[in-house]
Parts: sequence; C-alpha cells; structure tokens
Amino acid sequence: MNARDTNARLVIAIDGPSGSGKSSVSKEVARRFGLAYLDTGAMYRAVTWWCLESGVDLDDAAAVVAATRSVPLEMGTDPDEERILVAGQDVRAAIRGDRVTDHVSAVSTTVPAREVLVRMQREIIRESGNRIVAEGRDITTVVAPDADVRILLTASEAARMARRGRQLGAAASSNLEAQVVGRDAKDSTVVNFTSAQDGVHLLDSSELTMEQTVQGVIDLVIRDTDTAHDGAAEAPDDTGAAAPEEARQP
Ligand code: C5P
Repeated sequence: MNARDTNARLVIAIDGPSGSGKSSVSKEVARRFGLAYLDTGAMYRAVTWWCLESGVDLDDAAAVVAATRSVPLEMGTDPDEERILVAGQDVRAAIRGDRVTDHVSAVSTTVPAREVLVRMQREIIRESGNRIVAEGRDITTVVAPDADVRILLTASEAARMARRGRQLGAAASSNLEAQVVGRDAKDSTVVNFTSAQDGVHLLDSSELTMEQTVQGVIDLVIRDTDTAHDGAAEAPDDTGAAAPEEARQP
C-alpha cells in the first residue's frame, strides 16, 4: 500500500481528548491525501441535540437508545464543507453550544447507544470506499481497529485548555475547565483514550504548532503504509516513545 495511491484503501483513525487539536488536524490530513473526513464527536453531539429537542430524558437509558436508533441524521464527509443535518435542519452551530456540550456525555456513556453509533460510523467508513480520516475517542480501538494508520493525539491539560479557550474566543464559558477536563473524565469511564493501545502511535501535540502536528501525522501515515507496501522498511515503534520525538522536528 502507498498513501499516495488514490485508489488504494486508506483508513486513518485518530483519537484523543478534547482540545488535542484532532478535528483541525484530521480535516487537514484528509485534504492533503484527498480523503473523506468523519467527525464522530459531531454524531454524539447531534444525537444529544435531538434528545434535548424532542424532550427525551437523558437519564432514561432506554429512551436515549431509542432516540439514537431513530435519529434522522445526515452526516457529510467532505473536509471542506461540514454538513450535519438532523430532520433536515442544519445543526452545525447548535451542537457546539454549551447546552449540548454539557449533556453529551449522557449519550456517550450509554453503551447501547454507542453500539448504534459505532455501526453507523462503520457504514460511513465503508461508503467512503475505505478512504477516510475518522476521528473521535474509540476509532482506533472499537470503530476501526483494522485502520491502516492509528494515532492517539494527546496534549497536556494546559495546552488543551488554552486551545479550547482560543477556539471559543469571547464565547468561552466561565466553566471551561469543567467542560474540558470534566467531560474527558466522564467520557473515559466508557472508552480509554488516554493511553495508546498496542499498534497505536502516540503523538503529543503540546509543543507543536498545527502545521507540525499535521506533518507528524503525515509522517506516520507514510511510514505505516510504506511498511505495509514493501515489507522491507523498519517496523514502526509503537511504544509511543518514538513518534512524538520524531514529530517535534520542525
Ligand atoms: O470530539 P467532541 O468534543 O466533539 O466530542 C463530543 C463528545 O462525544 C465527547 O465528549 C464524547 O462524549 C463523545 N464521543 C465519544 N466517542 C467518539 C467521539 C465522541 O464518546 N468516538
């Protein structure tokens, strides 16, 4: 396999906590390789928005699962044009608001609701012709453990808080810390996205610019796919120690 071959399958799975930069980085990597892009966090957010809109009690697991099964969700996969419709309504802005952010863990910690979304995500990956960058919390481990390249993108808590603050600008909520750290703590009760599993590269973006992080991901993609192609290249070190060092080179 060669990452530059525009016909070959190339599934790139990127997981990480909030504020690790994974959305911007994943989108840019998708553009550079001409791949589709899937933001799975947006799917959890869209279901949460749908539950809130339709008066579903988020403490009622059965009702949350039923809502997840029936949500009329349309997810676009163009990295240049975000498209997220629920019942025909554009929910891109609404799903990023505090109301959804504060409640999204209620959906994501409901295990049978996750199973419904995981099936939908696998279907979207298949429909892309297996040419996609998919990002989230459980892509490398559950949704696409067979992905061609699997990366856990992390960053220190300070770096993540600073990024989220900059992203939100004036709209940054006074409870930003609770939103970022608290949400990650809740989320990690059902999925492990804090340590890299076997075969998953760890890339720490704390000291990296966005461009350096994109380059770090591209280097890992080239390395993994070339290894698979000729079988002669040195096997990548998946202990997580090598990748960040390598990526730190400007
Ligand atoms: O990435 P983002 O912050 O938009 O994700 C929103 C929420 O969706 C996360 O806090 C988490 O609860 C959930 N999520 C998940 N599994 C994924 C992606 C997101 O549980 N693969």
